[in-house]
Amino acid sequence: MAHVFPRHTTGNLPLAVRGQGAYLYDSNGKSYLDGSGGAAVSCLGHSDPDVIAAIRSQLDRLDFAHTGFLTSESAESLADKLVAHAPAGIDRVYLVSGGSEAVEAALKLARQYMLEIGQPERTRFIARRQSYHGNTLGALGTGGNLWRRAPFDPVMVSASHIAPCYEYRDRQEGESQESYGQRVANELEAEILRLGPETVIGFLAEPVVGATAGAVPAVKGYFRRIREICDTYGVLLILDEVMCGMGRTGTFFACEQDEVAPDIVTIAKGLGAGYQPIGAMLCSDVIYRAIETGSGFFQHGHTYLGHPVACAAANAVVTRLTEGGLTDRSAEMGGYLMQALTAEFGDHPHVGDIRGRGMFRALEFVADRETKMPFEPELKLAARLKAAAMENGLICYPMSGTIDGQRGDHVLLAPPFICTRDQIDELVTKLSISL
Ligand code: PMP
Repeated sequence: MAHVFPRHTTGNLPLAVRGQGAYLYDSNGKSYLDGSGGAAVSCLGHSDPDVIAAIRSQLDRLDFAHTGFLTSESAESLADKLVAHAPAGIDRVYLVSGGSEAVEAALKLARQYMLEIGQPERTRFIARRQSYHGNTLGALGTGGNLWRRAPFDPVMVSASHIAPCYEYRDRQEGESQESYGQRVANELEAEILRLGPETVIGFLAEPVVGATAGAVPAVKGYFRRIREICDTYGVLLILDEVMCGMGRTGTFFACEQDEVAPDIVTIAKGLGAGYQPIGAMLCSDVIYRAIETGSGFFQHGHTYLGHPVACAAANAVVTRLTEGGLTDRSAEMGGYLMQALTAEFGDHPHVGDIRGRGMFRALEFVADRETKMPFEPELKLAARLKAAAMENGLICYPMSGTIDGQRGDHVLLAPPFICTRDQIDELVTKLSISL
């Protein structure tokens, strides 16, 4: 009997024994093209020699130093690198061990900031219906994914939710992208006014919605209007780039393309690139100073935060993404992936939308292209596509609940940036056969 508690308790999973480049291998010698990088994690592919060398060298020098007592060279140099590429005004880095932890830290920092500046009545968060921010109680409570939240609702922090920016389904005929972006962003203002501006801490959103909806970017101007609204009402803008950050969309931070700078931003997944569990919450100096000159103590922390070995791996990853040109490669190969998907599925009767940025792409499935009617949930399209793809040696990330957390299906594709054109062709062919 296997004693590992698997997420899905029914069915046996293949036993992974090796990873190399864009492929994973199981104990039967079968190879799987890692078409979703796990879940948008493996941006460098598997067995990258630079990252492995960095981990080994760090282990030879220093394994662990608790950040309550000491900082480390690898943590300091990682923070310097991240700030060098961060959105304007962001210059403090709080290192954690994953995405949910980064979001928890962001929520707690935002609340504590309001206390430090004498606005204790600010207790609420606003997020979007199409969103996933993690599985811990705070992060889950802000996410908009209904079926994930439902069993835990009575014991969570609870955010209120506005509409996402979802052009494929919501932009009306004759409405320009610009005015659609303004219209949907204005929902934030309406919600702040409904709750009372003096009660709102922050607005949390993914610049490009990942798991719940499948690589949905905002239209031009949407986030600029969101920023204006946040500034008008003293609400913090918190961007969750756990999935879409770290070069995934073709720029180091996804929000660069939306021309917006947040007050707080979270990253994880691609930061450790699968080599180490690590995440980070970055914030503006204004927020940091409020804590520094106030209570002098951020009321949050975990034992393993800023782990030297995880930071050493992340340093090597960030160097590859920036100086090594892999973020630019994500933009370039992502363009090729989009072309290949369009060539294969552009006329498919059940593919309604092909979208995304960089190496972060998705297909949205529909029963009918004209009406954009989703498939019935009973069809279990996502689960069946996942199984068929595994059978065909492809790991991709199909999900249901695209539209309102209840209906709709998509498949998210997030291959390693090192993929060649041949491997991208292989991904598209295997996806097509599996469909
Ligand atoms: N935020 C977003 C946008 C995510 O996609 C995820 C993970 N899918 C998380 C937070 C949570 O990250 P983790 O699974 O590392 O806790």
